[in-house]
Amino acid sequence: MIIILTPDVAEDGAEVAAVLSIVARFPAVTPKVHAYRGAEHGVVEVHLVGDDKSVPEEPFRQLPCVVQVVRVSEKYRLIGRHGARIDAIGFEYRGLRFGQDTLHLFPGLCAVDTRENVDKMFAALARAKIKTTRAGAYKPRTSPYDFQGLGAECLPWVFESAGRHGIEIIAMEILREKNIDEIVGALRKAGNPCGVFLQIGTRNAQNFELLRYAGQQKEFPVLYKRGMGITIEESLNACEYIASEGNRNIMFCLRGVKSHLGEPHRNFVDFAHVPVVKRLTRLGVCIDPSHSTGRRAVAPDGLTEIHHVTAQGIIAGANMVLVDFHPAPGAALCDGPQALTLEELPAFAEDAMKVRACYESRVAKT
Ligand code: PEP
Ligand code: MN
Repeated sequence: MIIILTPDVAEDGAEVAAVLSIVARFPAVTPKVHAYRGAEHGVVEVHLVGDDKSVPEEPFRQLPCVVQVVRVSEKYRLIGRHGARIDAIGFEYRGLRFGQDTLHLFPGLCAVDTRENVDKMFAALARAKIKTTRAGAYKPRTSPYDFQGLGAECLPWVFESAGRHGIEIIAMEILREKNIDEIVGALRKAGNPCGVFLQIGTRNAQNFELLRYAGQQKEFPVLYKRGMGITIEESLNACEYIASEGNRNIMFCLRGVKSHLGEPHRNFVDFAHVPVVKRLTRLGVCIDPSHSTGRRAVAPDGLTEIHHVTAQGIIAGANMVLVDFHPAPGAALCDGPQALTLEELPAFAEDAMKVRACYESRVAKT
């Protein structure tokens, strides 16, 4: 059972105490208080863990500080919507709102390679008035002989360049706990010029220890990428690990699933699951058109297939687009074949916003 309190009550205030005193009458359950910041207000929930069948809802409903009492299954208890009974609340980070009703573009480098390319990428974003990007320092590569990313050494100049170009957030994959410390250290040294989304890649989608670490820290939101070869239910359960450790600032990323049926794309594009994840969970949904299609093939209408699937994801209600760009894709050290060029960025961003406007106008009529 989840008991949701009125907005902005204190975690240790009289309202929570009133709920807890009722819970104390039922020894079969243990209360767990969850407090977090939504995009618009603070949210406090009291979760009853254990067998709550014999616990009545009425005594809680009678308290003026209680807005909702929801009986939930154990399944994705924190991230779930439990049959549309709980709203998505989103979160705010670096002055930007993220949730199921916003859209942010994160075009950028799959892997950081040179200072010049980082500067060129960030300058192109600034010209397009985009403050959010992706930039990989730690790269999980299929072959140990491929470029593994520059690691911690590039962080000082990546963050410095971000500050110079007004970039607010960088989505950056982490491979182990130590990477979080390296990112924190480099950001502090640079004077916190930008923020970071900790990206959990598809290869770590069920690395439960890493998910726990990402959930134990509350400084950075987490971008969780679905597992490439597991069910959506398994990915959502894995994502719940992050929330269960206390961090509810999560975006769930669809990046395609491994199947020969997707060929000639790198993965089978799964953006039909955008509304599904929004229905099942309280999380905002990101799409990754680059890692799902894996190539910048051009359709007969003159548009890249990356362009097409991006539009498909946005019209389905996506809240974030993680997409690879590179100043010289042919020379990129990682995933060059799927990178768009900087010259393509303005039209890509403009088209994405046009599709979004179309989606919003349709939703307004429902
Ligand atoms: C990436 O975004 O750079 C990446 C490696 O993606 P994925 O984990 O989805 O393969
Ligand atoms: Mn990549």
